[in-house]
Amino acid sequence: MAGLFLLRALHIFPRQYRGQAWLLLAAALLPWAGNFLYLSGLSPLAGLDLTPLCFALTGVVLALDLFYFKLLCLVPIARAKALEAMGDGVLVLDPQGLVVDANPAAGQLLGQPTLSLIGQPLPCPALQAALETADAAPCEVVVSGTRFTVLDVRLHRLHEGDLTLGRLMVLRDITEKRLAEAALFEANWALKARVEEVQALQAELHEQVVRDPLTGAFNRRHLEETAATRLAQGRMSAAALVLIDIDRFKEVNDRHGHATGDAVLQYLTALLQDSTRTDDIVCRIGGEEFVVLLPGTHAEEAVEAVERWRQRFSQVPPEAGLPFEALGFSAGITLFPLHGQHLQTLLEAADTALYAAKRGGCNRVCLAPLPNQSATVPAR
Ligand code: GH3
Ligand code: MG
Ligand code: MG
Repeated sequence: MAGLFLLRALHIFPRQYRGQAWLLLAAALLPWAGNFLYLSGLSPLAGLDLTPLCFALTGVVLALDLFYFKLLCLVPIARAKALEAMGDGVLVLDPQGLVVDANPAAGQLLGQPTLSLIGQPLPCPALQAALETADAAPCEVVVSGTRFTVLDVRLHRLHEGDLTLGRLMVLRDITEKRLAEAALFEANWALKARVEEVQALQAELHEQVVRDPLTGAFNRRHLEETAATRLAQGRMSAAALVLIDIDRFKEVNDRHGHATGDAVLQYLTALLQDSTRTDDIVCRIGGEEFVVLLPGTHAEEAVEAVERWRQRFSQVPPEAGLPFEALGFSAGITLFPLHGQHLQTLLEAADTALYAAKRGGCNRVCLAPLPNQSATVPAR
């Protein structure tokens, strides 16, 4: 019976235990063989019972097993126990890639009884591919059997000197870790999308706060916030501020209706935005009053520019869809820092120049008086 167990052990046990098993088998069989030879008369020494002699040989063989193959040595037993208790799967593969040993964790990770792995190639094609491609570098393998599993696979060459005895494959289940990472990534992505959405809403809200809904021009709030800060921070060495007021606008409303009046306001806004640079600020500060801030612009350039706008506005093209051939505005121009250091002062000076333009007969541009002049100068 013990002999049968030992014969089975020769198949199942890892290679390092096979020598021990062979010797134990030999030690158990020797007295049987001696006795059989004596009883059957086949003994080479006629009449001599070889059984006691064989018992002596059994002792020698057991001693060999004990001292050479370290039969009772605890270390291999402890190692085997540790291997069995390990959470990581461990597979020992021969040079042909057949499994010669596996611990219970390996069986669990691969979804098969551990014993059924022995003597077989690796049960999963992805692992087989890992065995063929990667030798030392760790890799990740997805095993989709009864449950989806991500395995961290590490391979170690087993060798004695130059002779490769096989390979050791260590499998670690990193499914939870990868799933947690994927969930975190998804949460981050959703959060990023939410932040972008909130930022877009904030930008839209800010636009609504600083834009006039009828014309799309900036409003007085924007002029006060932006222009005032730019002037206060000294970020502009020179600038021109233009105050524009449409002439006889009330008549437009009265004769053609409020909607036409609105269309005129939109038309002038588009004209001003089209005629200015990206750095310039076009604002509608009240009913039919506009302010245009032209950074880096001096007196002459400012007067020329506003005069061009006035001429364009006075010749309404048919495609504008307005029931007029001519419109007009009056404008007052002030210069920073010549006429004032602050927005409010500049606006007041521009208003005085605008008043002079209106008094002069409307549809004209006036520059606020320069330091040596006593009165506002009509530019036209
Ligand atoms: P002046 O030549 O002296 O500038 O006279 P005006 O008629 O242009 O100016 P006034 O201040 O007498 O009238 C401005 C008119 O603008 C009165 C008001 O009903 C109209 N108005 C103000 N806001 C709007 C608006 O958003 N749309 C329209 N259609 N009209 C507006
Ligand atoms: Mg007005
Ligand atoms: Mg007006």
